[in-house]
Amino acid sequence: MPIFTQNEVNLHTHSFYCGHGTGEISDYVHAAVDGKRLKVLGFSEHCQTPDNYYPDRMRFETFETYMETVKSFCSGGEENEGLRVLLGAECDWNSHYVPYYSYLKQRLGFSYLIGSVHYCQDRETGRLLYLGKILEIGPYLGSYVKDYTDMLSSGLFLFGCHPDLFCYHTEWNKDLEMAASEIIDCARQYNMVLEVNGQGCLKKHVKSDGSTRYPYPVPEFWAMVREAGVRVCVNSDAHNPIHLNSPLAYSFAVENNLESLLVKWNVSEDGISIAH
Ligand SMILES: [Zn+2]
Ligand SMILES: [Zn+2]
Repeated sequence: MPIFTQNEVNLHTHSFYCGHGTGEISDYVHAAVDGKRLKVLGFSEHCQTPDNYYPDRMRFETFETYMETVKSFCSGGEENEGLRVLLGAECDWNSHYVPYYSYLKQRLGFSYLIGSVHYCQDRETGRLLYLGKILEIGPYLGSYVKDYTDMLSSGLFLFGCHPDLFCYHTEWNKDLEMAASEIIDCARQYNMVLEVNGQGCLKKHVKSDGSTRYPYPVPEFWAMVREAGVRVCVNSDAHNPIHLNSPLAYSFAVENNLESLLVKWNVSEDGISIAH
């Protein structure tokens, strides 16, 4: 069974289909081929639900076109030049949609699903608030940790995306450390892989002393991951073909001594799994 390293695989990839990305599926396939590094390219467009629950996502009506377009590249062909293309989806955790996510995986030919928490619910209005827009994470930390650990323990997902997204606007403190510790303990308990996410490496957070860091990934979080020995994967989370081959997330993993924890992926006709 062919085994691939983190350098050869990108499993978190978007396109114009999500509504906030650019580029056709074929543009990403060409970017991967031209980059000469990737051997496996997995598309993981933001999953929409039949009732169009998520704002800022492709409409459910378009989901089928997305699936069919990716599938047309999965079977290989000249354009791929040996690149393996997989159909996946990035799902926002919500227990209400578990039967639907299971259905996608079992019946609709998705090779894998990846799990995320992008939103917290406003307690008063019930509205979904995007984490990148919540400046004071304190009141939402509990709900983020609950959703993220429920997602990790659900058994539905290949890995957990950008687990440290909650650090976005906040400098490291005891509360963040406690949240990190719960998430990392859960990942260890359920043998789940956590993702160093390259989309965060394209952004900047200015700290109170004027220095800068990525909003995510955050070194303090990943030092705890290293300490716990939880396994790690690296993806660009590209929303534009020019970011598909970005080395930033991989460099972050190397600089933060995560190399020995990077998983390898087994890719076969049956799908994708961790290589042991
Ligand atoms: Zn996105
Ligand atoms: Zn994503």
